[in-house]
Amino acid sequence: MIENVIEFFKNLPAKMCRNCGNEMVEQHDCYTNVCDDCHEI
Ligand SMILES: [Zn+2]
Repeated sequence: MIENVIEFFKNLPAKMCRNCGNEMVEQHDCYTNVCDDCHEI
């Protein structure tokens, strides 16, 4: 069961900031494609 979860996340494409290319931590909201450093309100 646990292995299935790991495989699920491994198969997910890494979410990267579209501005600087840094790998982003999975966030609950997906309204932005840039990291916190690049995201300006
Ligand atoms: Zn960025």
